[in-house]
Amino acid sequence: MQLADRDWLLFCEQCGEWTGLHRFLDKSGHFQGERSLTLNAYLNSDLLLGKFLIHHAQHSVVPVPDLTDAYMQVRLYKERFLEGAIDQIVGDRIQRDLDREADQQALRREGYHTLLALRKLYSEKLKELESHYPDEQGQAKVHLGKSLGIEWCLAQIDRLLELGKAV
Ligand SMILES: [Zn+2]
Repeated sequence: MQLADRDWLLFCEQCGEWTGLHRFLDKSGHFQGERSLTLNAYLNSDLLLGKFLIHHAQHSVVPVPDLTDAYMQVRLYKERFLEGAIDQIVGDRIQRDLDREADQQALRREGYHTLLALRKLYSEKLKELESHYPDEQGQAKVHLGKSLGIEWCLAQIDRLLELGKAV
């Protein structure tokens, strides 16, 4: 197995303390991070990695891949960084993601309702224009221009509403 596909931990030789990095996620550009067994989830951020690095600044810190003796030794006999707080930290991260998702859904709903309100407004304006057709030639051109403008806006709104349905 290639090193890039391995599970990693970071070990401070001075303090005998380690933190789990697990796999490096190339696409998102960070490690999976510590794993909460209770929640069966990874931290999915560099929060603990950052804290670990700051805590062990100026110490000799080495990345250790799994399937090695060093990895087994560290996992079996050394202290895990902030072990008692990992469930809480991973739980908080999951909750934050859920909150963000809920916020985005609320925003999407709000946007959808705004578009519906705009659609109603423009439709009424168009009806109003259609019911008052001008007699003069010059005014007719302006009238047509306005109608076409509003029709164009309605088409854009419908397009956005369709896109919203697809999301
Ligand atoms: Zn240290």
